[in-house]
Amino acid sequence: MSRFLDSKFSQLAPYVPGEQPKDREYIKLNANESPYAPSPAVLEALRSAQSAALNLYPDAACRELAALVAGQFGLDERNVLLANGSDDILNFCFLAFCERGVVFPDVSYGFYEVFADLYHIDALRPAMGEGLTIDPRDYTGTGRCVVIANPNAQTGVSLPLAAVEGIVKGSPESVVVVDEAYVDFGGETAVPLVSKYENVLVVRTFSKSASLAGARLGYAIGPEALIEDLKKLKYSTNPYSVNRVALEVGAAAIRDWAYYAANCRRIALERRRLTSELVKRGFELTDSSANFVLARPCLIGAREYMEALKARGILIRYLGGKLADWVRITIGTPEQMDALLEATDEILKVS
Ligand code: PMP
Repeated sequence: MSRFLDSKFSQLAPYVPGEQPKDREYIKLNANESPYAPSPAVLEALRSAQSAALNLYPDAACRELAALVAGQFGLDERNVLLANGSDDILNFCFLAFCERGVVFPDVSYGFYEVFADLYHIDALRPAMGEGLTIDPRDYTGTGRCVVIANPNAQTGVSLPLAAVEGIVKGSPESVVVVDEAYVDFGGETAVPLVSKYENVLVVRTFSKSASLAGARLGYAIGPEALIEDLKKLKYSTNPYSVNRVALEVGAAAIRDWAYYAANCRRIALERRRLTSELVKRGFELTDSSANFVLARPCLIGAREYMEALKARGILIRYLGGKLADWVRITIGTPEQMDALLEATDEILKVS
């Protein structure tokens, strides 16, 4: 830290992304990315002449892509705001709606904590229930902005739409942000609530189900007034945060959604298979509907298991802290999951 840094950031603990070691080839199961490449149509869009117009700024309003996203849900483009990954959108949500504090689960996406810290927001973190679940009552009528990931980050556990609606309905004085990064793998979307309530915002990303983590594309869906609020912040920081290439590949991905829907089904099937295989090997798992599982290896320490897999060329995530006994494993292709299980058998034999 230099002596020039504003003292209000001296204690800030930034987000730590999943590691990307380059010393060898790894099977990468540590960042909840898709194991499947973008579709041929998306790769073609990437090669197209249009995306070469890089001397010109992109459309700050992202109108074509906003219209395509809105069309997927039967909404209007005024209900959609695109940004540089859903982290960008979440940043705006914490900036915009947390004057009276925020409430998010004790175990969830680590960035919520970082944003609360960054903006000195008073944060309430209700404890997790049995099976690392959340109790909707803890998030209802608090007077604070509510931020929930559904399915929840780290645990993969999802809330039914009726429970989310209960929180939204019972918290008319707060904005309820529903982070749906993982919804396409088995959760129930809260998008239908957008036309019914003025206080709900759904945050989504192209990074997981749309195989575009490298393009940095995320969006908010909400009532027009909330989208206008977010837009105000986007245009007060970086109006051109979504680049031309991202706009084109994002549009191509939506037009080719059947390819991605099939990949999501494959991932959900593999999640079920991996879950039952790990249970056979003595692991405890949460009830995940995401593209990852959270697993507690009972016959070996969690960190030790992560390190033993790394030594065998497989990266998974050890989160530590409240999850010190657990590891998070991204669902990969069937071949990658076979390799993981084979390595696990080897590790358990020698431990
Ligand atoms: N929300 C949740 C719950 C996540 O796990 C992630 C990815 N780590 C994000 C948002 C951010 O996704 P992105 O910025 O890539 O859209």
